[in-house]
Amino acid sequence: MRLKKRSKHRKAVKFYATCFGFREPYKVLVDGTFVHHLLTHRLLPADDALRGLLSASRTPALFTSKCVLAELRRLGKTHAESFDAAQMLNVTKCEHDKVVSAVNCFISLIGDKNPEHFFIATQDADLREKLREIPGVPVIYGLKNSLFIEQPSVQQRKFAQLDEEKRLNMDVSEYKKLLKAASEGKLDASEQGCGGEHERPINSLVKNALGVAGKSKFKRNRSKGPNPLSCKKKKPKPQSGTLNQGATPDGEAKRKRVRKRKRDKKDNKQAETVS
Ligand SMILES: [Zn+2]
Repeated sequence: MRLKKRSKHRKAVKFYATCFGFREPYKVLVDGTFVHHLLTHRLLPADDALRGLLSASRTPALFTSKCVLAELRRLGKTHAESFDAAQMLNVTKCEHDKVVSAVNCFISLIGDKNPEHFFIATQDADLREKLREIPGVPVIYGLKNSLFIEQPSVQQRKFAQLDEEKRLNMDVSEYKKLLKAASEGKLDASEQGCGGEHERPINSLVKNALGVAGKSKFKRNRSKGPNPLSCKKKKPKPQSGTLNQGATPDGEAKRKRVRKRKRDKKDNKQAETVS
């Protein structure tokens, strides 16, 4: 059971790494509710717990925001321990001179593309729901003594599929990154699909992005059946050696020339017999 959970988490992380370019060391943006959960369930040290959850080789960096700290401070004594703990985290810059709610702060930090590649750790159900609609935002939450990563939402999977078109136009460095990810994940390819119900291994995604898949498929098919060009050649009844040129424009021209020559000869013969 435990193993199953772990492989599910790994699969989710790979989805975001493959489809949205998440790289280690991962960044986790935590809100007050999550810090409180970590402390009340003694999931400490938190970075170790998150590292295990993400199957990361490097310790993830934990971030919070000024607005989250302000919110925790406002909650007073009941959340004093959480406030102290949150203060020890990195504080990511938000553009709120006047503090806003943690939810609004996170939504603005994420924007519509999550450019900083944050994992968002929260116990707030409303925030989680909102984040599901934004592509490329993995969500971490706690249930009693366990941490979980939400499986990518339908919207996120759909976006990942749409985004394949963009990948056709990606630059060389992006392509290299994707290729590297592909070679690293060879053994576990089936876990890295971006397409939801139509999950596909990353290798095929990379090939797709390069237009390689179509080519190699074509090559394989070509060796199986007869060459369609050679089939066409056989159709016209050969009238003379020179007509056996196939249906190419060159052959056509040649055939016309031959016909004309024949016509001329015929005319000459007729002219001779008449005279
Ligand atoms: Zn803020």
